[in-house]
Parts: sequence; C-alpha cells; structure tokens
Amino acid sequence: MAKYYVNNNPQSNGDHEVHNSGCPWLNLINSKKDLGFHLNCKSAVLEAKKTYKQSNGCVHCSNACHTS
Ligand SMILES: [Zn+2]
Repeated sequence: MAKYYVNNNPQSNGDHEVHNSGCPWLNLINSKKDLGFHLNCKSAVLEAKKTYKQSNGCVHCSNACHTS
C-alpha cells in the first residue's frame, strides 16, 4: 500500500496529477489533496476523480495510470 495525493492545481492540459508519497515531484506541488492509502495507482486515480473529473496518473511515479 502506498499513500497517494492529487495536485489541487491542474496542469496546462487540465489534468490533475496523482502521485504516490515517494514521488520527487510531490515537493514541487504547492497544494495537494490526501487520497489516503491505495493498493495501486488505479484506485488512487478513481478516488481523485471524485474530486477532479480530469485526474491522471503522474508519468514518473504512476506511469501505469498515465493516459495522454
Ligand atoms: Zn509523481
């Protein structure tokens, strides 16, 4: 299980990126929402979508859940 977060600020394409707690990019995020613990990024992105319809896995830490 890993802890996941979603960026409260969208990327330029409108995506809200989902990161796990080990992602170095987390340090660059000013405002993030705690998504709790998840078995994998898929359920974390589903959880993020309850808040932000356009959520997407981070290409670095959650590439399996990243769609372009
Ligand atoms: Zn990440």
